[in-house]
Amino acid sequence: MKKVLVLGEISDHHLRNVSFETIAAAKTIAGDGEIVALLIGETVQSLSDEMIHYGADRVITVEDEQLKNYTSDGYTQALGNVIETEKPEGIIFAHTALGKDLAPRLASKLGTGLISDVTGIEQQEDTIIFTRPIYSGKAFEKKVIKEGIAFATIRPNNIEPLKKNEDRTGEVTVNNVEIKDLRTRIKEIIRNSTDGVDLSEAKVVIAGGRGVKSEEGFEPLNELANVLGGAVGASRGACDAEYCDYALQIGQTGKVVTPDLYIACGISGAIQHLAGMSNSKTIVAINKDPEANIFNVADYGIVGDLFEVVPLLTEEFKKL
Ligand code: FAD
Repeated sequence: MKKVLVLGEISDHHLRNVSFETIAAAKTIAGDGEIVALLIGETVQSLSDEMIHYGADRVITVEDEQLKNYTSDGYTQALGNVIETEKPEGIIFAHTALGKDLAPRLASKLGTGLISDVTGIEQQEDTIIFTRPIYSGKAFEKKVIKEGIAFATIRPNNIEPLKKNEDRTGEVTVNNVEIKDLRTRIKEIIRNSTDGVDLSEAKVVIAGGRGVKSEEGFEPLNELANVLGGAVGASRGACDAEYCDYALQIGQTGKVVTPDLYIACGISGAIQHLAGMSNSKTIVAINKDPEANIFNVADYGIVGDLFEVVPLLTEEFKKL
């Protein structure tokens, strides 16, 4: 009977969807064991039930005004205390900016290994097998943990959350750890552009490349994203050309996305871009150049001018 700890990720007083995906991943490891969810922040108690509805058996909250915004220091203190008392056999975080920062730090503190950026977890007899992409997504490796804590971060949008059950109940306890001597204090958060749907969790991503030619060139992409309830992303080519903010960059040195639908508009398909989107479930490419590399990973290719094709798609989707 294994006990697995998951960290719920909170953004603007809401649990990010990937929090529920961590519970589903933990379930594969825990089997009939216990899934303990940890919520950290200034006031997080009200989010506990949702974690339970999605499959957590128990929730522990750590509330402190110093934990209002994420700092690796503050979260490590909160987590360290909970891990010491709970002694979980597994720990699952999301492979987000927060998880990527916190997990290696915590793993080193615990003296344990870490499997990062996991896209699949399965059980074969008594062995849990973790799958993760390597070589910028060109291949996948399978890993098993032979000893110590099974500690992994999971890539958003890859592991299906368990079915929500609002009748589920579970214990919620408060952990009163004293957060002290923080070396980092967040004074202000300045958000750049990206209103609306969170790019790394979006089910639909409309991405623009150097082919959009200007900041205004992103307008038709924004319209299509609005109609489909998706988010707008970009290649580094578009960011470097100052057509959009780097917060939108997808790829090896940008965000990794795995939406159900990825529409690449005026993107050539450089390997560094593919590293961030090639695992999308359905890829549509729109490019003037029939030889563009993006067509090699696309499920559907449209050879044409994006300024003609994208508005036509928007009109058609509006009719649905
Ligand atoms: P281009 O390669 O210039 O392609 C533009 C495409 O638009 C062309 O295929 C053209 O045919 C098409 N086009 C032009 N006009 C139209 C039109 N009207 N309608 C339709 N199609 C049109 N790149 C990333 O994206 N993400 C990364 O994270 C990243 N990290 C990198 C890290 C390193 C270390 C290095 C060296 C590079 C990295 N790059 C990254 C850059 C990458 O190599 C490419 O330079 C970049 O992806 C190219 O962007 P692009 O496809 O928008 O531009």
